[in-house]
Amino acid sequence: MARNVGIYTRISRDDEGDSLGVARQRQDCERLTDLRSWQAVKVYEDNDVSAFKRNVVRDEFELMLTDLRAGLIDGVVAYDLDRLARQPRDLERLIEVFDDRPRLEFATVTNDVNLGTPDGRTMARIMVAFANKSSHDASRRIKRKHLELAQQGKDSGGPAPYGWRKDDRSKVDAAAAEVIREAQREVLAGVRIGTIRTRWQEQGFGNPREGTKRMAHHHVEHILTNPRLVGYRTYHGEILHGEDGRPIMGEWEPINTLEEWEAVCSAVAERKQKHPGKALARKYLMSGIARCGLCKTKIRGQINQRWTPESKAAKYTYQCSVVNGGCGKVGRTGEPVDRLIAQLVLEEQRARAAVTAVPAEERWPDESELEQVTQDIAQLVEAERSKQITVATLLQLLPAKERLRDELKLRRARFYKEQKQAEAKGDTANLTVDEFFTLPIERQQEIVLHSLSAVIIHPAGRGKRKFDPSLIEPVWR
Ligand SMILES: [Zn+2]
Repeated sequence: MARNVGIYTRISRDDEGDSLGVARQRQDCERLTDLRSWQAVKVYEDNDVSAFKRNVVRDEFELMLTDLRAGLIDGVVAYDLDRLARQPRDLERLIEVFDDRPRLEFATVTNDVNLGTPDGRTMARIMVAFANKSSHDASRRIKRKHLELAQQGKDSGGPAPYGWRKDDRSKVDAAAAEVIREAQREVLAGVRIGTIRTRWQEQGFGNPREGTKRMAHHHVEHILTNPRLVGYRTYHGEILHGEDGRPIMGEWEPINTLEEWEAVCSAVAERKQKHPGKALARKYLMSGIARCGLCKTKIRGQINQRWTPESKAAKYTYQCSVVNGGCGKVGRTGEPVDRLIAQLVLEEQRARAAVTAVPAEERWPDESELEQVTQDIAQLVEAERSKQITVATLLQLLPAKERLRDELKLRRARFYKEQKQAEAKGDTANLTVDEFFTLPIERQQEIVLHSLSAVIIHPAGRGKRKFDPSLIEPVWR
C-alpha cells in the first residue's frame, strides 16, 4: 500500500555553496520516496539562509508537525538529520509525534538516522547534541568563497540546466530554448504545468533523470520560471543583488526578456493561489468523493503495485484504508468505478440541460415593462423640472417606480445568468465518456461534483470478482 509521506527540505546557513540547494535535496528525497514505494503528497520547504530572516520560526516545519499529528501525512523524508532538526527542542517535538504514532515512516537520503525506531531516536538525540557543539568554521570559509564567486556573476559548476548547451553552459541550446518558450506561451494561454509535464515526458524534453522519462512537477515549473532565463544569478534559489540593489547578472546568454519571464512567473503564481496544493493532491477521479459503504470514511485511490501493461490486474484501486481512519474492509478496482460514475453524471447533466436550458437567443420577456417604468421615472423628473408638479408630489410618486425598476433589473440579471449557466452545463452534457476522460482531473472532478455530493462504495463480499455496478451508489445533489 502506497503511504503518503511529506518531503522536508531546508537551506541552512551552513549549506552555502555546497550546492545542496532545495531543488537537489527535494530531487534526492523524491527518488528515495519512489524507492520505498511511498507517495510524496506534500513538500515542506524552509529557508533560513536569508540574512533578513535569521532565527526565524520554521513555518513549514511547524506545518509538517501539525500535518503529522493530524494524520495528513504518514511519515517524513528528509535529506539528513541536520536539515530536519538542528535544535534539540525541534527534535524532541518531532520524536513526540513518532512516539504517539508508531507506524509513521521515516527516511533520510544519507541514511544517517531512523526516527522510526527507538534506537534511531536515541542516536538522533546524540547527533543533534554534538552538531550543536561542533564548529563549522573551516567549511564556512570554503562556502564563503562560493558565495563570493556567485556575487561576481560567475556561473556555478555541474551539468548545464535545460535550455543551455551541455558542452558549454554559458551558451543557449537553441532547440531546448524554443521548447521552453513554447511551453511558456502555453502557460500564459492557461495550460497547466501538469499538462506540459506530461507532454515533455512523452517527448523526452526537459532533461529528465538518467534512465527515466519522469519529471517532477516542480522541476518543469522551475525550468519555465528559473531566474537564470533572464540572466539573473541565483544563490540557493534566491536572486542575488549587488550593492546598488540591482540583480547580479550571470555570465551566460539569457533565453527570455524580462517582460516574458515576469509574465510567466506571475501566471504561475496566480494559478498557485487559486489552487493551492491541488497539483500534488489529486490523482484519481474519486479521490475525496468516494466513501466506504461500511464506515463512510473517504476512500482514496491507490496505484496497484502489481500492475504492468501486460497483466490483467487493475491499474489502480479505491481502498478504504486503516491509515486514514477507515475500516480497511472495502475496496474496488478503480477504472470501472470511474467509467460508471462518468456515464451516470454525463447522462444526468444531459437530461437536466434539456429540461432547464433557455434557448440562447431568447430575450428576457419583460424588457418592455422595464422600458415603460424607466420612461415613467424620466417623465416624473421632467415634470418637476418644468414645474408641472411639486417636489413633494415627485417624492411621493418616485420611490414606488424606482423599486419596480430595480426589481425588474434584478430579474433580468437572474434570467441571463441562468441562461449562461445552462449554456455552460450544456457544454459538459454534450461530452462523451471518452472525451470526459481527456479533461484534466480537476475539471473531471468539478463536473462530477456538480451532480454528486459523494459516491458510496458498498462491500462486494468475499471472492466476488466481477464488477457489480449496483454496489456503487451515487449520492445526487
Ligand atoms: Zn471502511
